[in-house]
Amino acid sequence: MDKILVIDDSAVQTEFLNSILKNDYEITMCQTAADGLRTAKEGGFSLILLDVVMPDIDGFTLIRELKATDLTRHIPVIMITGLADIQYEERGLLLGAVDYIAKPFSPAIIKARVNTHIQLYHYQSQFQEQALVDELTGVANRRRYEAESAARWKDAIRFGQSFSLCMFDIDKFKVYNDTFGHPAGDRVIAAVAKEVSSHFRRATDLFARYGGEEFIAVFVGGDGQSAFDFLKTIRQAVEDLHIPHNPSVGDWVTISVGGVTLTPTSSDNYATYLKLADTMLYDAKRLGRNRVIWSSSGREQLREK
Ligand SMILES: [Mg+2]
Repeated sequence: MDKILVIDDSAVQTEFLNSILKNDYEITMCQTAADGLRTAKEGGFSLILLDVVMPDIDGFTLIRELKATDLTRHIPVIMITGLADIQYEERGLLLGAVDYIAKPFSPAIIKARVNTHIQLYHYQSQFQEQALVDELTGVANRRRYEAESAARWKDAIRFGQSFSLCMFDIDKFKVYNDTFGHPAGDRVIAAVAKEVSSHFRRATDLFARYGGEEFIAVFVGGDGQSAFDFLKTIRQAVEDLHIPHNPSVGDWVTISVGGVTLTPTSSDNYATYLKLADTMLYDAKRLGRNRVIWSSSGREQLREK
């Protein structure tokens, strides 16, 4: 059941809204703006019904606050007021309200508008999620990688954390597709992504499909040696899926991995290290595939096999 937050200083109003909506939604009622903001941040709400006229902080100030806060920005807000004045309506909508309901309420109109906005909210959430997820594999897509990697990099600089960046791809994938067909190739991409993503489990790990049979991952913490060891485990886990390849290539489907670990400073350039990871991947291919090659700052290259 969707949760709705009602913020209105009048107990009579909140109770009235509650009686209209309680059969279809889980209603939380707050009678001050401060309490409303705190409750909204706790999360899980699909809609906020917000009174404009309140004694401490008014609804316009509160909606500005809600829209400026990461935790609450996405929640649609319907403004409620007895001030049936187009000026107020405009102001609410300009501040980011999705709709406006004037008192006195008609229960049927309240229900209809609430239903509409909750449906729109679900539709939008789903759309936003799909826009960031790779359809074939269910892992992050390149757009999400592009959006998040820069922020992770900046955080690592700010907190003085080590940062690892790695690229990998499926060995001789073109041969696989030519041998077994594209639908089978798609299943291999999905199987590899599933296995690899099961290793990148921390909230700070970002693993994405970069394109085709190429993947990319960024993660923080640990030194170059531990990152190298981690990726060797992943490389082995993919080999251990025992997906048969064209025998001219090898027994099983495998991946090659190139990566770099450093503790970045503000004078470092992300693109330089992305290029370095790509060069390590190229070396892994050149040296015979199914291996991890890692560059660790201040140390020589780490090579598997
Ligand atoms: Mg009021």
